[in-house]
Amino acid sequence: MKKHVVIVGAGFAGLELAARLSESLADAVDITLIDRNDAFYFGFSKLDVLLGRRVPDDVLLHYGEIATEGVEFRRETVTAIDPVRRRVTTDAGTYDADFLAIALGADYDLEATPGFQRGGFEYYSLAGAERLRDALAGFEGGKILIGVLAHPFKCPPAPFEGAFLLHDLFVRRGLRDAVDIRVTFPMAAPVPVTREVSQMFLAALEERGIRCAPKEAVVGLDVRERTARLASGGSVPYDLFIGIPVHRVPEVVGRSGLAVDGWVRVDQTNLHTRFPGVYALGDVASGARTVAKAGIFAEAAARVVAADIAARLRGSGAPPPYEGDGDCYVEFGGGLVGKVEVNFLGGPVPTARIVAPSRELAVEKAAFAATRRQRWFGLDAHAVPEPMASRTARSLIGEDD
Ligand SMILES: Cc1cc2nc3c(=O)[nH]c(=O)nc-3n(C[C@H](O)[C@H](O)[C@H](O)COP(=O)(O)OP(=O)(O)OC[C@H]3O[C@@H](n4cnc5c(N)ncnc54)[C@H](O)[C@@H]3O)c2cc1C
Repeated sequence: MKKHVVIVGAGFAGLELAARLSESLADAVDITLIDRNDAFYFGFSKLDVLLGRRVPDDVLLHYGEIATEGVEFRRETVTAIDPVRRRVTTDAGTYDADFLAIALGADYDLEATPGFQRGGFEYYSLAGAERLRDALAGFEGGKILIGVLAHPFKCPPAPFEGAFLLHDLFVRRGLRDAVDIRVTFPMAAPVPVTREVSQMFLAALEERGIRCAPKEAVVGLDVRERTARLASGGSVPYDLFIGIPVHRVPEVVGRSGLAVDGWVRVDQTNLHTRFPGVYALGDVASGARTVAKAGIFAEAAARVVAADIAARLRGSGAPPPYEGDGDCYVEFGGGLVGKVEVNFLGGPVPTARIVAPSRELAVEKAAFAATRRQRWFGLDAHAVPEPMASRTARSLIGEDD
């Protein structure tokens, strides 16, 4: 009889795990994939929405398109997880699993930072990116403060990519001299995977005249005075505040007893939790060593989980361990994309190889997205026409180039 694999969360981790299991084990498993939303979008699509290059309708990939053998998608909200029984309860039913994969990602806790919801902006959600896009359209000059509100957060380069792209936007609008852009963050350096990577970001910030304040976290906003309070006791004035929100596990994970120290603790060799037959992968998981929260590492984890399930079912030896590796594309503005090839766990310390920004890498990044569209949703990898909606969005912020 086939085994039942239940995957909760159809993001980078859940989609890749479903695809891998379907490819390698369709004869041995039935896969139920559950997500509360009806569509997926890449994290980096929010940057496109922020800049008005695309509107949300252009970037949504609907789960109804999934045509993967052996995978049944259910649009339901997970309301309880019992890791001992490997039982998932949703707003529509109950699922018992032989193997349970928790891939619910990270949620944002906007209320953790007083004043942020009322007086700040963010681009870590699609709705937030749209709202900020509209605010930027009317921004003619002043102080922009980008504050990373806590660590860890998704996609370590994203706050800095935001700063580079805003720089670029105001240069093109002829307003750069009228805009002061500043970034605060609680880490000692941007993207601290290696010293060289941090240095690359510091140099790029400096080149663009973007000031940065390391080891400095904004803990609240005085919305009336337009000042951001710092953990160190000082304050910084702003005209537009953009926060990278505090991240936490989804509430249902918090209630399940799976989370320890805020995240779901896993054995980093195979992504197993302390509960037999229960895996956690992607942003929701953490282990003894740091692996950044990003789609590429979630995807790499899914490959290991699929191989581990296959090994258990076939009685073969353990697969190679998770290395926390992947290629991270970084937007520098002006159509230039850089790449950092990262490996967190393959050796005693993380390694990273930097590939300088170029237009060729922008094409490679687009191809990265296209292959996932094809693999996960069966959509034609080559035909990605620019929708009308994107042109409408560009005109919203006066960028009809
Ligand atoms: C601005 C920005 C730029 C980024 N750029 C990149 C990039 O260039 N490269 C990169 O690799 N990563 C990037 N990321 C990070 C990337 O998007 C995430 O790290 C990645 O999506 C994590 O994958 P995941 O599967 O763990 O979680 P997610 O992709 O977040 O998937 C989790 C899923 O669980 C579902 N879910 C949650 N709770 C429930 C519930 N109770 N019931 C049912 N379903 C539920 C959610 O709907 C969601 O679909 C970026 C992120 C942002 C915000």
